[in-house]
Amino acid sequence: MIKFLDLQKINNRFRREIDSRIGAILDKGFYILGDEVATFEQNFARFCGVKHCIGCANGLDALNLIIKAYGFGKGDEIIVPANTYIASILAISENGCIPVLVEPNFTTYNIDPDLIEEKITERTKAIMVVHLYGQAVPMEKIWDLAKKHNLKIIEDAAQAHGAYYQGRRTGNLGDAAGFSFYPGKNLGCLGDGGAVTTNDDELASKIRAIANYGSDRKYHHIYKGINSRLDEIQAAILDVKLPHLDADNERRRQIAEYYRENIKNPEIILPKIYDEKSHVWHIFAVRTKNRDALKQYLEQNEIQTNIHYPTPPHKQGAYEEWNDMSFPISEEIHWMELSLPMSPVMTDEEVGRVKDVINTYK
Ligand SMILES: *Cc1c(COP(=O)(O)O)cnc(C)c1O
Repeated sequence: MIKFLDLQKINNRFRREIDSRIGAILDKGFYILGDEVATFEQNFARFCGVKHCIGCANGLDALNLIIKAYGFGKGDEIIVPANTYIASILAISENGCIPVLVEPNFTTYNIDPDLIEEKITERTKAIMVVHLYGQAVPMEKIWDLAKKHNLKIIEDAAQAHGAYYQGRRTGNLGDAAGFSFYPGKNLGCLGDGGAVTTNDDELASKIRAIANYGSDRKYHHIYKGINSRLDEIQAAILDVKLPHLDADNERRRQIAEYYRENIKNPEIILPKIYDEKSHVWHIFAVRTKNRDALKQYLEQNEIQTNIHYPTPPHKQGAYEEWNDMSFPISEEIHWMELSLPMSPVMTDEEVGRVKDVINTYK
């Protein structure tokens, strides 16, 4: 069986180092907001090329903290792609803001920069870009729009740790970015974890306080905060894995290149890239008319796949008020998308077998 993502194999590469770092934490007996978190925050900030990294409990909270720290609330509008994981949109509506959905395009699967300006109103506060499937959003036009209309740019970088746009990493392409370290992400811990990155000193200290009960020092609460912290054990595990992230992403690129050059089946539309370094291939997304049949065919041949995602956010029960709206491009992506096995620990043999089986699909 070729797994979609073999997390055991991914993490067991670091078994000895992880064991010893966890052992050191047990010896020390300090578990929340200690040296491990501070060290990882510094290292991840350096990796992204930003001034600040603030650890938090998960990727949803990272986005939530950014919106809270900016003070966006009731009636404020935030532009977001129509085809994202529900977390991007939940972070907006959780704060009483209005998510304004914008169609993606088929070339990048990311928000279509040409469709943003018509959605900007006096109530628009920010554009949330989502580097979906691991590909950095082409930012040029979005930077111009944000400047012209005085909007913040919030990155949802949960799928794109390490991707570049014009020589800058994700996490450093807007005003603030949210990362997730959910186990299946390109940089994943062994539980939940997340972080915010930013170059804004004031925003950083505000987020740090809000994430810790709104407190800037112990028992002194200046904001109505939340409890959203990265713990010492997860931070230590992330710090073990971070130095290997670029090599892992490079292996993903090799696999993607092999798929893109060798999968030759008229039924299957392969993903496109505009620049090699822009993509870290969190997900290798293909499109096909009869997605469920392809999925079943691969399963019969012992190849696991996934769907990202089966139902568009505007068709979900949680957003009933949007169910009659139409976003045809987003819908088509959701009905046709299939994610092939992709991970840094796949062998050449496995990658070759996925290609062979797909090429025999009719
Ligand atoms: C995973 C993910 C999130 C949420 O991360 P969690 O850590 O699960 O809260 C947000 N946005 C996108 C695009 C994601 O893929």
